[in-house]
Amino acid sequence: MLSYDVIEWGKPLEKAERDIPKPKGTEVLLRLKYCGVCHSDVHIREGYFELGGGKRLLMTERGMTLPATLGHEPYGTVITAGPDAADVPIGEDRLVYPWTGCGACARCREGLDNFCMAPAMIGIQRPGGYADHLLVPHSRYLIDASGIDPAWAATLSCSGLSAYAAVSKLNPIPREEWVAVIGAGGLGLSAIGMLRALGHERIVAVDIDLGKLKAAAAAGATATVYGRDSGCESQLKQIAGGFIYGAIDLVGSTDTAKLALGTLRKGGKLILVGLYGGEVPLSLVTTIQRALTIQGSHLGTVAELHAVVALARRGQIQPIPIEKRSLSEVSRTLDELKQGAIIGRVVMEM
Ligand SMILES: [Zn+2]
Ligand SMILES: [Zn+2]
Repeated sequence: MLSYDVIEWGKPLEKAERDIPKPKGTEVLLRLKYCGVCHSDVHIREGYFELGGGKRLLMTERGMTLPATLGHEPYGTVITAGPDAADVPIGEDRLVYPWTGCGACARCREGLDNFCMAPAMIGIQRPGGYADHLLVPHSRYLIDASGIDPAWAATLSCSGLSAYAAVSKLNPIPREEWVAVIGAGGLGLSAIGMLRALGHERIVAVDIDLGKLKAAAAAGATATVYGRDSGCESQLKQIAGGFIYGAIDLVGSTDTAKLALGTLRKGGKLILVGLYGGEVPLSLVTTIQRALTIQGSHLGTVAELHAVVALARRGQIQPIPIEKRSLSEVSRTLDELKQGAIIGRVVMEM
């Protein structure tokens, strides 16, 4: 089998050839057709994420060892399975839930693999999808995404799922209340689409790029605020006619989190998603007296990915622009993502 691997942190991926693995136990083997290329792989290839305040999260501390095959948006055909595997759809195409845990703890057994304290995620600690074959630990991570464009389906397992899981944490959203979506990049546009799909209309998008605000309005935001304006906090309150119920921060900088916390009403919720690396001083008294919830949202559960696929199938979320490229171009694609030169999503085709 063929894969493109990180051999040394921060260096281009290198082509590797090895024997096709034989599935053991409950494992399932797929011949991959597609794998989406996510911006987080730019950081993972570097070997760290910035945590703010000059601190870094090293991928080696998250249990990654080299060489490693990245790629956590895989989609392919099920070809064989280990002796203990059940319900294996041999010959059928499946989307893979990549955020797999240890498989044995209470969280994993509930399908909350993304909360497992011993993660074994596909494309992080386990070999990922920048390859022509992939081992998946159990058939419960295979999702039937028939009826939607498979290249787009591949991308749902990261950005689509993350947006859905964040929006779900605001539920139930009273219809008359406003929700701010801060950061109108790909994930922000997905979040706006998910809010609309769940029937919510009072959405205000905030960004420092006028082009992205235009895209946000096209995606269903009912109001927009230019984040570089000095009075953007009061603009937000003006649009909402007062303090707002909820904010999803898809940036995660000191400025965006401060903006959100300054505009939340009593009982308001801030959902943190963006990994920019900011930090804020937090008044505990204010947090108590305004009964605020500040919740992190990282990836999503198996059930949430099924829900995202169902929304896509019903046409309630719209495809993002997809460009297909040959797998041999994956390292160059990561370089272009790092430079901010990619619109929509690139999906590698095997
Ligand atoms: Zn991702
Ligand atoms: Zn676990």
